[in-house]
Amino acid sequence: MKHKGHFGKFGGRYVPEMLIPALEELEKTYLEAKKDAKFKKEFKHLLTTFCGRPTPLTFAENITKKLGGAKIYLKNEGLNPTGAHKITHCVGQALLARKMGKKRLIAETGAGQHGLATATVAAKFGFSCTVYMGEVDIQRQRPNVFLMEQLGTEVVPVKFGQRTLKDAVNAALKDYIENVKTTHYVLGSVVGPHPFPTINRDFQSVVGREIKKQIKKLEGTLPDYVIACVGGGSNAMGAFTDFIRDSDVHLIGVEAGGKGKKIGEHAVRFPGGSIGVIEGYKSYFLQDSDGQLQKTHSISAGLDYPGIGPQLAQLQNSKRVEFASVTDKETLKAFRLLAKLEGIIPALESAHAAAQAIKLAPKLRKDQIIVVNLSGRGDKDLFIVAKEFKDKNFFQFLKDYLKEENKRKENKH
Ligand SMILES: *Cc1c(COP(=O)(O)O)cnc(C)c1O
Repeated sequence: MKHKGHFGKFGGRYVPEMLIPALEELEKTYLEAKKDAKFKKEFKHLLTTFCGRPTPLTFAENITKKLGGAKIYLKNEGLNPTGAHKITHCVGQALLARKMGKKRLIAETGAGQHGLATATVAAKFGFSCTVYMGEVDIQRQRPNVFLMEQLGTEVVPVKFGQRTLKDAVNAALKDYIENVKTTHYVLGSVVGPHPFPTINRDFQSVVGREIKKQIKKLEGTLPDYVIACVGGGSNAMGAFTDFIRDSDVHLIGVEAGGKGKKIGEHAVRFPGGSIGVIEGYKSYFLQDSDGQLQKTHSISAGLDYPGIGPQLAQLQNSKRVEFASVTDKETLKAFRLLAKLEGIIPALESAHAAAQAIKLAPKLRKDQIIVVNLSGRGDKDLFIVAKEFKDKNFFQFLKDYLKEENKRKENKH
């Protein structure tokens, strides 16, 4: 049967039979909410009074001068609560969950950012919340685990398989199937079975609408380019959606080029991915000939996903969205440039988009305009960046901190 929620040949709803009613209920609730002035008003109210929207669009004057080409503007989504755009679709889904009478939210998380956004809306709206996270990821991402726990969420370590994201997805799905009457599964990007790619895109599309308004006010015209990094694709679809019909505006998705071109060294799906049906939807995936997902790598935890949102797959096929990739090294260089010249410390994911703009700007005319969607801020990447920049003082601080802590404990006994 041809399901709804297709983007060209991509998308759909490929899930176990017992999950169909829950996805249909979610779709029905969403279609009602979309027409409900009260729902829309509440969503907007929360985006203003809880998330601080609209986020600013900032002219990167110093970088622009240095590069001597197109004007670069930065849409600063990093100013959102939890430091990234993710909170927006989590607020939207929390409102839908409440409308469906659900009492509990669950999510899976890899690096912890989606878990953190889910834990935040759970606290805000009074849901109980469980986040599944691979044991290996918990070891790598302790700060986010700590923060989720402070927000009142139970973080459940997943101890089977590779003990990373894929296993956390399976654990969360098992929970969802067992508790589907009381529980909403918060999906973290424009991926998964219908209606998630549509719902999350619509919630995020506020970003593109704001960009349009802001750039028209600042420059009196539309941008020539909008650039966003692409993991699953939610921040990119957020920035792109309102521009899809403006055919003069180039849209560029930036993937994680990682540290090399071999399997396991990057997360570039265009080219490299092939069409398959995994995790409930049809799209491009980095997979082997048996349909097993390949290992990926990126310096940024949010971009090392082997799949990509189905609508982005379709937009790539129809050539409306162009794809590029930048390496870990180029990303770190962009990170440094934004920090030193603009006073903005971007998330490493977002620094990918900035790196692409930095490559492109000198090739363009001075009257052309690039908008970079900075999906998040860099606080969360403190440990990775300190390690990459070989900051000895930072690690000395950690050692001294532990030494003090151990001394304190010994004195207690
Ligand atoms: C999670 C995350 C991403 C990747 O997710 P998309 O769905 O592709 O947007 C990008 N940037 C930041 C800051 C993130 O936290």
